[in-house]
Amino acid sequence: MSDSCIFCKIASGEIPARRLYEDDLVLAFEDLSPQAPTHLLVIPRRHLASLLDAKADDEALLGRLHLVAARLARERGHDHGGFRVVTNTLGDAGQSVFHLHVHVLGGRRFAWPPG
Ligand code: 5GP
Ligand code: ZN
Repeated sequence: MSDSCIFCKIASGEIPARRLYEDDLVLAFEDLSPQAPTHLLVIPRRHLASLLDAKADDEALLGRLHLVAARLARERGHDHGGFRVVTNTLGDAGQSVFHLHVHVLGGRRFAWPPG
């Protein structure tokens, strides 16, 4: 846990969030500022500042983040129309919260390449 990290505070319950799923490794909640009809975040319980901090031992965790992303997207009905899973990493990608997270976006059409 990082004392100043907003997602650690959500994981611990210190800051409220609309929680959708949790297990021993990850939790998922609604993004505060949704960029699509579905905009969820899946995060590790443990503080990792970005994807660059994941080590070989974190294979199961990285798999879980994506399996939960797919499960929630399916539950929201995006298993036919499609959805986008994004992990912004550091400044050029626009990462603003430095606790690893997977965005799950769905319910509209997304451009490629992203802006
Ligand atoms: P990033 O820019 O790091 O890829 O994404 C961070 C995301 O966290 C943004 O989409 C932002 O809206 C979301 N966010 C920031 N603070 C909070 C918060 O306190 N609660 C929730 N639920 N989402 C947050
Ligand atoms: Zn954190």
